[in-house]
Amino acid sequence: MPTAAASPASAPPSAPARREKSMPQKAMEKMGLERDIDLALHLPLRYEDETRLTPLREARHGQTVQVEGVVVDSQISLRPRRQLVVVLDDGTDTVNLRFFSFYPSHQKTLAAGQRVRVRGELRGGFLGREMVHPTFKAVTEDTPLAASLTPVYPASANLPQAYLRKAVASGLARARLDEILPAELLPDGLPSLQQALHFLHHPPPSTSVLTLEDRSHPAWQRLKFEELLAQQLSQLQAQRERALLRAPALPLAQGGLHEQLLAALPFRLTDAQRRVVEEIALDLQRPQPMHRLLQGDVGSGKTVVAAMAAAVAMGAGWQCALMAPTEILAEQHFRKLVGWLQPLGIEVAWLTGSQKGKARKEMLARVASGEAQLVVGTHAVIQEQVEFHRLALAVIDEQHRFGVAQRLALRSKMQAEARRIEDEGGPLEPHLLMMSATPIPRTLAMTYYADLEVSTIDELPPGRTPIVTKVFSDAKREAVVERIRDEVAQGRQVYWVCPLIEESEKLDLQNATATHEQLSEALAGHMVGLLHGRMPAAEKAAVMSLFSGGQMAVLVATTVIEVGVDVPNASLMVIEHAERFGLSQLHQLRGRVGRGAVASVCVLLYTSPLSDTGKSRLKAMAETNDGFEIARRDLEIRGPGEFMGARQSGAPLLRFANLEEDIALVRQARHAAGLMLDRHPEAAAAHVARWLGGKAEYLKA
Ligand code: ADP
Ligand code: MG
Repeated sequence: MPTAAASPASAPPSAPARREKSMPQKAMEKMGLERDIDLALHLPLRYEDETRLTPLREARHGQTVQVEGVVVDSQISLRPRRQLVVVLDDGTDTVNLRFFSFYPSHQKTLAAGQRVRVRGELRGGFLGREMVHPTFKAVTEDTPLAASLTPVYPASANLPQAYLRKAVASGLARARLDEILPAELLPDGLPSLQQALHFLHHPPPSTSVLTLEDRSHPAWQRLKFEELLAQQLSQLQAQRERALLRAPALPLAQGGLHEQLLAALPFRLTDAQRRVVEEIALDLQRPQPMHRLLQGDVGSGKTVVAAMAAAVAMGAGWQCALMAPTEILAEQHFRKLVGWLQPLGIEVAWLTGSQKGKARKEMLARVASGEAQLVVGTHAVIQEQVEFHRLALAVIDEQHRFGVAQRLALRSKMQAEARRIEDEGGPLEPHLLMMSATPIPRTLAMTYYADLEVSTIDELPPGRTPIVTKVFSDAKREAVVERIRDEVAQGRQVYWVCPLIEESEKLDLQNATATHEQLSEALAGHMVGLLHGRMPAAEKAAVMSLFSGGQMAVLVATTVIEVGVDVPNASLMVIEHAERFGLSQLHQLRGRVGRGAVASVCVLLYTSPLSDTGKSRLKAMAETNDGFEIARRDLEIRGPGEFMGARQSGAPLLRFANLEEDIALVRQARHAAGLMLDRHPEAAAAHVARWLGGKAEYLKA
């Protein structure tokens, strides 16, 4: 259908209050366009130039132009398909306008003899030059041209561009855009916020569209700076607030528990593990709460580092908690930690959501009394009913897997515990150690995680053979099953990963159950197990223990095994419909093999056709085993918004600045944020409120 001026006008955005919200209003709300300032900050994606007319003779093919002329012919033609063909003459040349859908009112506007202004892409058609579905409007000879470039805003299906333009224009007019930032903190040569916004919404005709579109124009720089500053301020604020908190200082006793653990371990720590243990121990000795991320590739041995940290705290007479995102992983940690620590006299408690009644009560009592010095579990660990006893350290494994709600719950739990262990000087906040195999690229670390210390394990334990990754079309399934047969014949174990268990009829996915049946048949004589998220916890645990005990040869599983699972004898992993997984997820899954000395293989089976991003993901997997490189490519393929998506869902991401391109501005904003908090704390608070509203909290957790 022809658009813009010819289409029925939408209702203006200022509909009377109390009425039911219209579709576009709801759509705006969904896009977060609620306050005037939100509308003012909703910036154009691009612009249309309706400020001038291009003579047809000068217009080139492929160019989008606005022309004005008189209709010399207007006919409905039925071949090759029904269409309205209008011939327009602007005095320099003619052009055919084609419309495949149209109303009688459009025919009227476009009747022979009418003067119209049209805008569209000029093409060299079969029968001369043409425009397909240009926008058009009836004009007279003195209808003025637009005074500024016409903004095109990010919109959505239920939010017509014309409606949004009006809403933004009135939001912009109403918004309070007084300068909050002290002039001394602004980089040179940038316009005021007010000027920048008015300019970007309605650039004058002389503006270079290039500097608008590549966002290098000073008005854009100002907006990006504002945004980065708000984000840096909220990070810095969180950091300063934390620095004021107190935490139990945990001294290292000679011959203490951590040294006993070290001596009892069946292996020597790698140099990298030693280094990070030292970094953590230093933090724990300080009377401020640690806020540290331990990153290390899958299999780099983070668990034992967590155990060492816990040993420092428990050795000093305090309690520790370790939380993992899945029950399977929590249980595995529980066993491992019991194995290491029980011989040293440590009691470990176990808390998960599936625990009920008496068992749960008993566990809670053991935790609250301090009888258990270490508490391991899923997010059940941070539920309200749980009362700790002198909690000094919380370890969050695979922290990127926890959502916003859980991170906020963790924070309030930590605060509650802080009050519980209050001394004369006030609350004592437990130390926090987060662990992740998904490394944070440097640029993100500088912006989103400015409030986080980072320790990195950059070395794998010795004796590992690198995993070989192969990418095959699903047509090779038979050959892959043969390969599994060989592997299990040699006493090794195999994972087969399927993307979904609730088979959605629309997505034609092989479901885990069907695959399980096929493999059981093909590998008669060997035990083939099935594991998925919908199984009762006890059943999951039973399957997992058969697999880790070595009795089960093949485990068909959904992504429940994605993180942390550690069965060193598993040497082959097949991932079905690999194209449906994200890159970091694939890398995590692959990390389930290659944990022992045997050479391991990861087979990625895909189903054609592959999308471009699907292709680049599988290519990245085949080319590198390095988690840092994978994270870098993931960021490249998805952009920071999505990269952060899972972790930060609900949190505002950078809309205007680009971390790679605007790194200089990031530095300036970082510097200015420090000065602003010192010298103009009220302006800083006002700035954060303007940009982040109530969302600032999310960035801190
Ligand atoms: P991740 O960093 O992925 O959490 P884990 O902590 O699960 O890794 O460790 C992977 C495997 O390596 C485990 O079986 C663990 O016991 C073993 N491991 C850890 N550190 C060492 C080491 N220094 N030497 C040998 N094996 C180690
Ligand atoms: Mg782990």
